[in-house]
Parts: sequence; C-alpha cells; structure tokens
Amino acid sequence: MSHDHDHDHDHDPSSPALRAEALEALLVEKGLLTPEEVDAVLTQYGERVGPLNGARVVARAWVDEAYRARLLEEGTAAAAELGIKGGPGGQMERLVVVENSPSVHNVVVCTLCSCYPWALLGLPPRWYKDPAYRSRIVREPRAVLREFGLEVSKEKAVRVWDSSAEVRYLVLPERPEGTEGFDEDALAALVAREAMIGVALVSGPAVTP
Ligand code: FE
Repeated sequence: MSHDHDHDHDHDPSSPALRAEALEALLVEKGLLTPEEVDAVLTQYGERVGPLNGARVVARAWVDEAYRARLLEEGTAAAAELGIKGGPGGQMERLVVVENSPSVHNVVVCTLCSCYPWALLGLPPRWYKDPAYRSRIVREPRAVLREFGLEVSKEKAVRVWDSSAEVRYLVLPERPEGTEGFDEDALAALVAREAMIGVALVSGPAVTP
C-alpha cells in the first residue's frame, strides 16, 4: 500500500514528520525545549553548518600529513582541533574517518535510521534516509553507486560503514589531480557532501583549454 497523497501523510502515525512534530510538542510541553530552540538547531545545521566543516577537515588532511594521521587515528579529537565538535545527542563523541585509496572505496550508511555527523555535514540529504538506499547499499553497493554516477572499478574494494548512535563516519576522499598548487580554502571548495558520504568522488578543477 502506498501513500501517494500528501494529506494521507498528515495522519499516518508512522510518518517521520508527524512523529517529529509530536516529539517537539511533547518536549515543549514538558518544558525541556522551546520552539525557538528547535528552530535554532534546524537553522544551525541546515543553513549555517552545511557540509563546510567536513570539507575543511578533508582539505586540512590533504595538505597536512600529520593532521591526516591524527584524523584517521582519532577523528573526534582531530575535528575538535578545527573547532568542530558536538552536534545533537553527542553524535561526535566517536567520529571514525575512513580513507579512500587506489585500492579501497568507502561509503557510509545508517541501516537502522539516519545517523549522520551533523556537525561536519549539516542535515542529511533526503536520499540518505530513504529505506531503499539504506538496504541496497549494503547488498549491492556497486549498483547503487553506479546510480549515483560513480563507477567503482572491479580492482577496488568497496567498504560500507554502518553508522549508529555511537559511531559516525566520514569518508576522506582522494585528493584530485590538478590541485597541486591549491591552498586549503581552494581545496575545501572542491569537496562536496556526497564525496564525504562516499557516493561521489572529488573532481579536480575544470580544465581550461
Ligand atoms: Fe541512524
């Protein structure tokens, strides 16, 4: 059975939007939150943070070998070095950074729900919460990545990382060619959210003929 009509969603008790609304109402009623605080969190992670923090982390790792080593060793502490910490529910307490290489491609999912490192990437994209992505990326990662336009060569292993309330993952993409002279800000500008989830690569600068 499908719910094709928007008005159905408003009354479907399994609808995430309705459940979120119910939770907000309950927390406000119990005096634990104000509607203004909820709005502030949404604005913070939806508009202000975006994926920029994650891009800064990636760019730093590309230019600073010692930072890269610390990032792969202890993600939470390395992110905090750049002033990035927190997020709702202590979700940055255990950040694990997984590195792409010529032999390995990493991709992140939350099979259970939609756990995601908000402090690094902002709010998760809609497809990340889609049940089809959450189940298929585990069973047939190469096929799903192909649908995102990413063909991973047979020689490369694909590793799928399942996020949880305890552990959040960030993919450290490979630095693209043609960026040798780039400073950190220029590098960060190349790094899109999708590359840090692992459904895309980072492309180098457009080549001008
Ligand atoms: Fe989740």
